[in-house]
Amino acid sequence: MVAVTRSVADLAWFRRELEREREFRLEQLIHLSYEVSDPARADVRTKLTVGARHALAEIDAALFRISKGKFGTCELCGRPISVQVLAACPATRLCLSCER
Ligand SMILES: [Zn+2]
Repeated sequence: MVAVTRSVADLAWFRRELEREREFRLEQLIHLSYEVSDPARADVRTKLTVGARHALAEIDAALFRISKGKFGTCELCGRPISVQVLAACPATRLCLSCER
């Protein structure tokens, strides 16, 4: 088995990115919850809320993987996820082959 070791600096960078994204999603959810209820926008608001909650759950899962030393490892095949993929989307759970 291939040992997946990301440098401490990498992990710190990913953690910061995830925490920044987490803060953005929390603010988004707060704004959505305070939005004046306009029936015409109810559908859009529901979709945005579901999307933000899903993103938040993915971010928390990624932060959990960092804390468990599993960050950057594909959840399906156990192989390392490329750094380019992680840099584009730090909450990614799967490698490119498993994503397809
Ligand atoms: Zn995989």
